[in-house]
Amino acid sequence: MNVLQDLPNAQRRTLRLVKEIAAEKDCHPFLVGGPVRDILLGRPAVDIDLTLESGSSTLARALAKRVDGRVRSFPQFLTYKVTSSGFPEIDITTARKERYRKPGALPAVTAGRLKDDLLRRDFSINAIALDLLNGAMHDPASGERDLGDRVVRVLHDRSFIDDPTRIFRATRLAARLGFTVEPHTAKLMRDAIDAGALSTISKERIWREVFLAMDETEAPAILADLASRGALQVLFGPRASSSDLQARLEAIHAQLAQTPELDRYVLYTGALLRGDASPIDFEGSGFSQKRARAVVEIANEVPRLEEALGAATGERDRFRIYRSVSPEMLTVIASEIPDETTYIQRYRDYEKFKLPLRGTDLEVPGGPHVAQALEQTRQAVFSGEIALEEARSYAKQVARKLLASG
Ligand code: ATP
Ligand code: MG
Repeated sequence: MNVLQDLPNAQRRTLRLVKEIAAEKDCHPFLVGGPVRDILLGRPAVDIDLTLESGSSTLARALAKRVDGRVRSFPQFLTYKVTSSGFPEIDITTARKERYRKPGALPAVTAGRLKDDLLRRDFSINAIALDLLNGAMHDPASGERDLGDRVVRVLHDRSFIDDPTRIFRATRLAARLGFTVEPHTAKLMRDAIDAGALSTISKERIWREVFLAMDETEAPAILADLASRGALQVLFGPRASSSDLQARLEAIHAQLAQTPELDRYVLYTGALLRGDASPIDFEGSGFSQKRARAVVEIANEVPRLEEALGAATGERDRFRIYRSVSPEMLTVIASEIPDETTYIQRYRDYEKFKLPLRGTDLEVPGGPHVAQALEQTRQAVFSGEIALEEARSYAKQVARKLLASG
């Protein structure tokens, strides 16, 4: 049982409660999937996933009571989710069998034994269960061996045909863990993609997987990998296969590390669609018009901007151009046109730069000239044209002039 010793506090506390309740209510919970994999790898486990052959609703309700949280139930998936502040998210499911009636369709689910539940899973390393009552491991697909070999392996040859989202999951998981996709699994993946498996699921489901890839720290490698496997063709056609794709994604990743408030979905999608994007490409993405517009700008307009910036004289001119594009576009320019990087950094500093001066300090009647004067003064101080101590009298002067000229 000592594998649980290394868990973060909140997770350990949760599992202690689960064990107590299991003893009181006489039920038999197993820790399964992601957390078991991560514990065995010595990685910090985040969410708690539990499976029981019976009694999942009893456990879910009792646990919610103990942690003063709430429980939501998803009857079609035989699943409960318990949430409470200060505790990890806890998913409690009834062990099930799944049957795929048709490639790409959601499976028919019936209650099953623990072993059925493990064998219906995506990869061997996600198919290990830890018995919380006696500490025994259940590993019917030799997941521990594959953890040792650092490979992602499917459990049967139809896996990617049954559920093509596993193509994305395998690629994502391998990159996140620094594993490789085991060769036979890689071949099955290739065959499934060649056979058109990805057109058996909706674009919405594919976009959801693409966004999950973009959320990962390893997003550039995952997206480039998916593109080279041909898994992004259904969304983007041949566009997402350019040879410098990974380098461009890495450059964006580096920018995102510095400015995390930027919209990563817009940036990465713009990079994937480089050269030729139109609103029809976003079908199923759920992108707002604003987001779609920003992606199209990034994908299509870098050359035009590069030209405009080439003709710019001085900082003010540049700042005017920067102001006319989205912050995400600015990031792309910074990552692709090295000469602009320093100017863009200065522009960002300028945007954040504040004067200790307010409209009422100018002692002139109100109107648009006040904001204009403050802005011109801000520019003058930032560029070093005047000293900070002169700001107030300078602003007054500008405001009076603007007022006089009407
Ligand atoms: P993460 O750290 O990303 O949450 P995870 O392994 O917990 O990793 P989830 O998406 O939370 O991934 O899924 C939980 C478990 O459910 C997985 O470990 C896997 O066993 C199973 N699972 C999820 N998606 C599928 C799928 N498409 N096909 C089969 N099993 C799946
Ligand atoms: Mg999970």
